Amino acid sequence: MRAAVLRDGRMVYRDDVPEPVPGPGQVLVGVKACGICGSDLHFAAHGDEVVEMTAQVSAGAGGMAVDLNSDVFMGHEFSAEVLEAGPDTDTHPPGTPVTSLPLLLSAGGVEPIVYSNSTIGGYAERMLLSAPLLMPIPNGLDLKHAALTEPMAVGLHAVNKSNIQPGETALVLGCGPIGIAIVASLRARGVENIVAADFSPKRRELATAMGAHQTVDAAQGSPFDTVKPAVVFEAVGVPGIIDDVLRRARPGTRLVVAGVCMQPDTVHPFFAIAKEINVQFVLAYNPEEFGDSLRALAEGEIDVTPLITGEVGLEGVGQAFDDLADPERHCKILVTP
Ligand SMILES: [Zn+2]
Repeated sequence: MRAAVLRDGRMVYRDDVPEPVPGPGQVLVGVKACGICGSDLHFAAHGDEVVEMTAQVSAGAGGMAVDLNSDVFMGHEFSAEVLEAGPDTDTHPPGTPVTSLPLLLSAGGVEPIVYSNSTIGGYAERMLLSAPLLMPIPNGLDLKHAALTEPMAVGLHAVNKSNIQPGETALVLGCGPIGIAIVASLRARGVENIVAADFSPKRRELATAMGAHQTVDAAQGSPFDTVKPAVVFEAVGVPGIIDDVLRRARPGTRLVVAGVCMQPDTVHPFFAIAKEINVQFVLAYNPEEFGDSLRALAEGEIDVTPLITGEVGLEGVGQAFDDLADPERHCKILVTP
């Protein structure tokens, strides 16, 4: 079958990938749409660092190492349609539109559907999912929108972790897909003052479309000069930004770090100590939040239409990875196999 795979740092098209065969408890699905995630771009460019750092944090926990000298399957933001159940597997009838936590259960254990030499992800015609994890897509929700369940769940999780109350001011630093998902989730929660900062005019526009009440051009000075947030969401992920927030934030601020910085970084603990700043790092979401995210999309509480800025077939994935480097052009590109 057809798929796009990572080979030598580039996404390449293949039409000779062996057809996946569902085992017990697994379901073969046809991919309808799969979003390209910033973490995929990062893995394509710096896969060796990711593999090395992941090995450090998961030492002793097992898990399958990724061999960058072989093709790597990616794509964890998908919607799909049930095609066929594995042996002795009860599941939804063929044709049912579904999404799922990006995990594949097998006799060997649980494998994340994220970067793998063997487990096929959403940049393919067909893939395997786990019957117990399938979530039917309700309300006739557009399957392209349903593919954003996963990235929007990331925003919901960050907001849940912040425990923000509607009357508190939120400042979101960085309006890439994670920052935008945070903005949308804050708005859906009823937060009355959401401020979003970014250098890119296009991304600030997007933040407004998704619910920000005010935007700040980061090139025009620090947002802290004009905004006194109770909760700061850091969704930039570059060295120095955490320390800058600690220096500028007011006493008692809660800082939620959602940006993924892979380099070492320096902070002055004194800034945080002097102001008793609470720092919470966040990653991904729990299964309940994933379900809540799907429900919010299906019930129209969050409309992701403005986020989808492009659509490509499997042959176009390599070009789409290049195009996503320009924040003025793109937020989320969907791969529709
Ligand atoms: Zn993602």
